[in-house]
Amino acid sequence: VAQILNGTALAKEIQSEILQATGELKNKGIIPKLAVILVGADPGSVWYAKNKANLGKKLGVAVEIHHLADTVAESEVIELIERLNRDRLCHGILVELPLPEEFDKTKVMNEITPAKDIDGVTAINRGLIFGGREEAALVPATPLSCLKLIAAAGVDLQGKRVTLVGRGDTVGRPLMAMLVNRSATVTVCHSKSLDLAGECLRAEIIVAAVGVPHLISAAMVGPGAIVIDAGINEVESGKFTGDVDFEPALAKASAITPVPGGVGSLTTTLILKNLLIAIERLQQEEGEIIDVV
Ligand code: NAP
Repeated sequence: VAQILNGTALAKEIQSEILQATGELKNKGIIPKLAVILVGADPGSVWYAKNKANLGKKLGVAVEIHHLADTVAESEVIELIERLNRDRLCHGILVELPLPEEFDKTKVMNEITPAKDIDGVTAINRGLIFGGREEAALVPATPLSCLKLIAAAGVDLQGKRVTLVGRGDTVGRPLMAMLVNRSATVTVCHSKSLDLAGECLRAEIIVAAVGVPHLISAAMVGPGAIVIDAGINEVESGKFTGDVDFEPALAKASAITPVPGGVGSLTTTLILKNLLIAIERLQQEEGEIIDVV
C-alpha cells in the first residue's frame, strides 16, 4: 500500500515558519498584507477568499478582502489594482477567479505589479518560469504544492519520466515548465491525447490537473509510481474528490496524494509563504516602497 502524502501536515510545518517570519517582521514594524479581490458571489471563490483571511489571522498576515458586486466595471477593478500596486502597506495582490465572463481576464491579471503578484499569474512571472529563471519569479501556488508533495515522497525529479495530465493555465501549463526546470522528462497530456492510459502507465510520476473525477484509474498507474492529484471535483454538495480513483490506485502506487488533504491543503499556505518572499524582495530591491507602521 502506498505512502499517503499528507498536504495538511506539510502545510502545518510551513505555517510555523511563516508565523516565525511574520513575528520578526512585526518587530521591524512591518505587518504583511495581502489584498484579495473578489468579484461576484461564486461560492468557491468566496470560500477561497475566506480561507486566506482565516489562515492569515492565525499567521500574523493581514488579509484584506475587496468584495465587489458582479456588476462592477472592469475599469473599476483595474483602478483598484493600480491603487493597491501603489499602496506601500500592501505587499501582495490576488484576484480570485472566475471573473465575470465579459472581463478580459489576462488584461486584469497583468495589471498586478509583478513584485506583488503572489500567485504568479502575470506575464512577467510566467515568462521567468518558462525562461528557466524561476528563482527570480513569484511562482503559482498549486503547481508549487505539487512539487512540494513530490519532494515529500523523497524523490529527485532529475531524469524522471513524468506524465502531466492537463495543460490548464492555473496548474498544468506552469507546472510543465517547472518540471522541465528540474530536469524531469515531461509528457503533457490533454483532452486530445490519443493514449492517455499508455502515457500514464509509462510514467514514474503522474500528476493529474484535469477536473474530471476519477479520470485516472488504477489500471493507468504503473507499479510503484508516484501519483499527485491536483483535481478538486465537487461530487455532491460539500463532498470533493480528485482526478484519480484513489482507493484502487493506493494498491499500485508507491506514494499518492489524497483529495481532500493533499495538493489543495497546501496552496493557501504557499500563497502566504509567497507573500513573505515578495516582502523580502520588495525590501531588498525597492526598500522605498515598503512603509513601516
Ligand atoms: P482547466 O484550465 O480546466 O484545464 C483542464 C485540463 O484538463 C485541460 O488541459 C484539458 O484539456 C484537460 N482535460 C479535460 N478533460 C480531459 C480528459 N478527458 N483527458 C485528458 N485531459 C483532459 O483546469 P485548471 O484550472 O488547470 O485546473 C485543473 C484541476 O485542478 C481542476 O480540478 C481544478 O479544480 C483543480 N485546481 C486545484 C487547485 C488546488 O488548490 N488544489 C487550484 C486550482 C485548480 P484541453 O487543454 O485539451 O482542453
